[in-house]
Amino acid sequence: MNLTDPTLFCDRAWLGGEWIAASGAAIDVTDPADGRVIARVPSLDGGAIERAIAAADAARADWAARPAKERGALLRKWHDLILANADDLARILTAEQGKPLAEAKGEIVANAAYLEWFAEEAKRVYGEVIPAPAADRRVIVLKQPVGVCAAITPWNFPNGMITRKAGPALAAGCPIIVKPASQTPLSALALAVLADRAGIPGGVFQVVTGKASMIGGIFCKSPKLAKISFTGSTEVGRWLIRESAEGIKKLSLELGGNAPFLVFEDADLDAAVEGAMIAKFRNSGQTCVCANRIYVHESIAEEFARRLGRAADALRVGRGDQPGTEQGPLIDMAAVEKIEAHLQDALDRGARLVAGGGRHALGGTWFQPTVLSGVSPDALLAREETFAPLAAIIPFRSEAEAIDMANASEFGLAAYFYSRDLARVFRVAERLESGMVGINTGLIANEAAPFGGVKQSGLGREGSRHGIEEYVEMKYLCMAGL
Ligand code: ADP
Repeated sequence: MNLTDPTLFCDRAWLGGEWIAASGAAIDVTDPADGRVIARVPSLDGGAIERAIAAADAARADWAARPAKERGALLRKWHDLILANADDLARILTAEQGKPLAEAKGEIVANAAYLEWFAEEAKRVYGEVIPAPAADRRVIVLKQPVGVCAAITPWNFPNGMITRKAGPALAAGCPIIVKPASQTPLSALALAVLADRAGIPGGVFQVVTGKASMIGGIFCKSPKLAKISFTGSTEVGRWLIRESAEGIKKLSLELGGNAPFLVFEDADLDAAVEGAMIAKFRNSGQTCVCANRIYVHESIAEEFARRLGRAADALRVGRGDQPGTEQGPLIDMAAVEKIEAHLQDALDRGARLVAGGGRHALGGTWFQPTVLSGVSPDALLAREETFAPLAAIIPFRSEAEAIDMANASEFGLAAYFYSRDLARVFRVAERLESGMVGINTGLIANEAAPFGGVKQSGLGREGSRHGIEEYVEMKYLCMAGL
């Protein structure tokens, strides 16, 4: 790999201020574009994970005691180093994940912004003085860091999901141990190189690699660990709740979605097509906020399908590291099999193919950007997240029917809709059962906004001033006899 700073390509875990090379058990990291092994990182044993927790615990008091301004300054420095090295970080990300370089850099820059945001918020974790119900008393509320935290992060945003979690944790005064997805540990380790360079103490930010269920299990059971922040599947989220029940661990969970995307008859159709392209095909459809069910008013459904099909056909599919690529490969063959199953199921129920429809001529895990129209509301993809480049258009007759179909899901992460009628905009936005609603846009995440879901899409929020609250506890001081 051609990097300006080759030291960012790191295949060792970062534990208590030491780099741990693979000895014995290791995990192969492959390039999803060709299956080539690009690195081997350690598969740490349980003892190493316990050492990481002990190192974080040892670093906890000093980190919490530092002035917020000082923690913020270190976060800001880390942020600046990430931006200065964004091109190299993007090359590492694309090599292990497959997304186009421009998208990789976009992920890195947009999510480094969470470090900048929380570097600033660190100074604003205000307590309260509350008027007491008795004259001789005062009610005072302190906000204190929750303690040692762990982050378990997914492969679809190997860089951004780490800065989103480490930013608020470190700002609040909590050390954090990151367990990246085994498919994509290199972005996490590159971030560790830069955190170290920024001066963040070794016990305060650590990256451990290895078997997910073993590491997750230790995190859940460790009495020294106060909180786990997880982004991934609903199934693993449930497992973490069960495993950590004994110790009443705090959890922030950003789980699966099955985002509805509604296009009303009064929408600006070109804008809706553009928004649907971003909401559906970004990262080859592999994001938890990707539009999975596109409900379009029956009077415009065919025209919308035609335009979306044309835009999907025009997407340049190829290797992420080649200039001009707009869609890279899928992460693995299981992802290809899932889109094939969802596609076949929709076709069996009478859907019509408008664009794509199968594996791409490039082979491997490449799939054609695919558009279906006339999809049945009962199709499998209306219930399950496809996580792949399949845009399914389901026609609707009335606003009420569209909202009912959109809400008929156990998930509630993101929803999108297009309308130019102000009354409808408020009506629909208020009725949609989701944590986030994109109105006349297909792109909603940013550091200033609370990102998260309702229903089985998770617990807690990332970003905004609310994001840091996930990492602090309230302590009520009852001052009596005054
Ligand atoms: P995805 O379908 O996106 O891979 P997963 O929930 O399987 O979603 O993975 C998200 C993250 O959770 C990854 O870091 C993965 O290694 C980790 N993970 C998977 N299974 C477990 C588990 N049993 N305990 C803890 N972490 C897990």
